[in-house]
Amino acid sequence: MQTKVLIVGGGLSGLHTAYELQQLGIDYILIEARDRLGGRILSQSHHVNSAVFDLGPAWFWPGQFRMEQLLDQLSLKTEIFQQYSQGESVFEDNQANLQKGFIGISMAGSLRLQGGFKKLIDQIKSKISSENVLLNSNLEALNKTPDINVLATIRIKDKPQQIECQHVILALPPRLGASSITFNPSLKPDRLTELTGIPTWMAGHAKIVVLYEKPFWRTLGFSGDAISHLGPLREIHDASAEVDGSYALFGFVGTQPYHRLNREEELKSLTIAQLTRLFGNQAQKPIAILFKDWANDPLTSVNEAEPMTNEHLSHDLSSVLEDNWDNKIIWSGTETASYAQRNNGYLEGALEASKRTVSLLKKWYL
Ligand SMILES: Cc1cc2nc3c(=O)[nH]c(=O)nc-3n(C[C@H](O)[C@H](O)[C@H](O)COP(=O)(O)OP(=O)(O)OC[C@H]3O[C@@H](n4cnc5c(N)ncnc54)[C@H](O)[C@@H]3O)c2cc1C
Repeated sequence: MQTKVLIVGGGLSGLHTAYELQQLGIDYILIEARDRLGGRILSQSHHVNSAVFDLGPAWFWPGQFRMEQLLDQLSLKTEIFQQYSQGESVFEDNQANLQKGFIGISMAGSLRLQGGFKKLIDQIKSKISSENVLLNSNLEALNKTPDINVLATIRIKDKPQQIECQHVILALPPRLGASSITFNPSLKPDRLTELTGIPTWMAGHAKIVVLYEKPFWRTLGFSGDAISHLGPLREIHDASAEVDGSYALFGFVGTQPYHRLNREEELKSLTIAQLTRLFGNQAQKPIAILFKDWANDPLTSVNEAEPMTNEHLSHDLSSVLEDNWDNKIIWSGTETASYAQRNNGYLEGALEASKRTVSLLKKWYL
């Protein structure tokens, strides 16, 4: 196979790059190691009803203009709604003492997408040629040769294949790419150290979504927001779908990844006990529970013990991003968005990185 631009990673960043290259008429192939597009965007339903809940990102924020513009462009603006935030929030200390009306933790004002962010991925996917997208295709090695620009070795459904290309866009977490892809000639040792030192945003986190028949907490005057020092959930929010009447609470698990290993069922039952302490007995009867531990996902996290960090990268990456095989390789996941605009790690950062990459490609190909 041959292409001008090989995009590696079908998360929001890579998929958005494909969308823009398609519009510009620049030749590309996108490969994605998973059997689905979206990457850290993962919206799931449960067989009890058709409602969809986000196990990855759930929000974007006013002022994130790239997200706003894209949703508008894809006719999804009418699907945006505000995070539910009416009523009291709850604070629980490590002795299970509750303080109601604790202020300052609500995600009030943050914005969600009806049907989850998968809808954004599906909409972009519908605008690009399916023959340019290869799922179950894992990039293993990149070789720079004098006669061909770059030769990529990929494994498609366990069969090795090669793709010749002029540029490779690595639209994935730099730490993951630098530790899982073989570069020949190898990147400079200090460059590899810098790349593996960039934390992958939210890679160490796990999310639990608990579905209920009715939003009983709202009826009782609670917003669904809670902070707990007892756990297992550290931060809890209302996750209800807005239109179709499917109700849920979700939370981020507060324990480090190595404490979560093989404890899914235990964590689910501890979660129900916690929601009962916080919001009352009606929490005891969920209709379903969804769980996703991103630290155990080798296409996001480099190891199962990836620590949970809540810090966005706060230093300049420009030296790391420059001069990778004379710009034959371009790093382009959300982690590479500028720290100065505070977008790195976010969906908005995935779009910022993609737009930076596309403007480089435009200079070279148009
Ligand atoms: C639990 C959680 C909650 C979050 N909450 C929010 C939020 O509320 N708001 C917000 O703005 N952001 C949030 N984020 C962050 C947001 O999800 C990311 O910013 C965004 O999805 C990153 O997109 P990306 O395309 O840069 O990377 P990714 O989505 O990680 O995509 C990279 C893709 O590369 C693929 N890949 C990896 N290695 C290879 C390989 N060798 N070959 C081929 N393919 C490969 C992966 O399978 C993946 O599909 C959250 C993330 C998580 C995990």
